[in-house]
Amino acid sequence: MDFQLTPEQVVLRKEFVDFFEAEMKHAPEGWIGGEEEVIATDEGWAFHKEMARKLGERGWIALAWPKEYGGQERPIMDQFMFNEVRGYYRSPGIDVFGVSMLAPTLLAAGTEEQKKEHLPYIARGERAWCQGWSEPDAGSDLANLSTRAIKEGDEYVLNGQKTWTTGAHYADWCFAVVRTDTASKRSRGLSFLLIDMKSPGITIRPLPNMVGEHMFNEVYFDNVRVPVKNRIGPENQGWAVTRAAMNFERSSAEFFAGSKRLVEEVVEFCKETKRDGEPLSKNPVVRHKLAAMVTKATVGLTWARQVAWIQHKGGLAVAEASAAKVFGSESGQQLTYMGCQLLGTHAQLKRGSHWAPLHGSLETEYQRCVGLNFGGGTSEIQRNVIAWEGLKLPRG
Ligand SMILES: Cc1cc2nc3c(=O)[nH]c(=O)nc-3n(C[C@H](O)[C@H](O)[C@H](O)COP(=O)(O)OP(=O)(O)OC[C@H]3O[C@@H](n4cnc5c(N)ncnc54)[C@H](O)[C@@H]3O)c2cc1C
Repeated sequence: MDFQLTPEQVVLRKEFVDFFEAEMKHAPEGWIGGEEEVIATDEGWAFHKEMARKLGERGWIALAWPKEYGGQERPIMDQFMFNEVRGYYRSPGIDVFGVSMLAPTLLAAGTEEQKKEHLPYIARGERAWCQGWSEPDAGSDLANLSTRAIKEGDEYVLNGQKTWTTGAHYADWCFAVVRTDTASKRSRGLSFLLIDMKSPGITIRPLPNMVGEHMFNEVYFDNVRVPVKNRIGPENQGWAVTRAAMNFERSSAEFFAGSKRLVEEVVEFCKETKRDGEPLSKNPVVRHKLAAMVTKATVGLTWARQVAWIQHKGGLAVAEASAAKVFGSESGQQLTYMGCQLLGTHAQLKRGSHWAPLHGSLETEYQRCVGLNFGGGTSEIQRNVIAWEGLKLPRG
């Protein structure tokens, strides 16, 4: 693996840094980043859309895509570099579902018509997507899903319920996996559909998270009509498309870059804050904790780079991406807990309080970070993937 940036990449990286440094000055007050920040309020969503427009104008949303669909055909490592810098600055502007999951799925398995209909809009930051996979009885065991799509002429008629659908309340479109052969069981008889969220028969109900933020939703389909031409891949073979899309979701560069920024803020806090007349940063126990935090953030970024490097060389990095996801979820929680310990009792103060250190970000993160073990596939499921795909252990 080569860590060295080319002279052209050094210039490009500086362009990213200058852009985010300038633009993030216009973020809503107290902005701490994260998907929740984008979709929990109208103000966050408006800022996200504005950033998406600016990133789209520069061609940075689709750096590695083919030019004919709005991309720049740059190497995957340039895309990685962009993700890393954006993550560090906690910038919105990238629709993770459209850009990181659906677009690569369309590029791999979509028809020419589907690619032309959706990719340019995603590249310009104009179309928001949500992911309709989980159901009340189908999470880790996704193949147990029961939302049905029955074919009538050139349309499917959809009935059922999805849950935990992040951002459905702002999304223009949803990509969903549904059962098109009702006699089938498990992963057979499923299809991958693109659903216009303005279609009649869709009801969206909010599911507030622990912080009270409106991030998740329940989405109900009641005789919703979806054109057959909106199916990606062959009918009843949507499981293969879904599995491919799962793989595209898991590059953790932004996440680890965000962790690095958090650690830097905690280090600053420890330098500025005195206990018993001495800066916290002089205390050996505190120094050990800070060193552990820096190590975790640095190891995480190196993992993410390795995943990008393998993909740059043409590999899939299935097990490595799962390892990065597990390490990211668990180290993200550990960093938050350690950060709260170092900030002391004031870490419990909510955002908006004058006395809350680091704008109360850790109080919010403390509650948000519980979900890290679940979103994008649980840590147990990722460990299964590492065992099967990476270590070639037999399936139990
Ligand atoms: C922040 C966040 C965002 C999300 N966004 C979306 C979204 O936009 N769209 C969407 O469709 N879903 C979304 N989800 C749902 C997410 O995909 C599911 O929560 C996840 O797949 C787990 O499913 P579950 O919640 O039903 O838990 P379960 O599958 O019921 O798991 C419960 C526990 O059992 C363990 N377990 C289950 N099966 C096994 C096994 N075979 N081996 C070992 N342990 C096992 C799990 O690891 C877990 O600890 C989101 C979740 C979170 C937290």
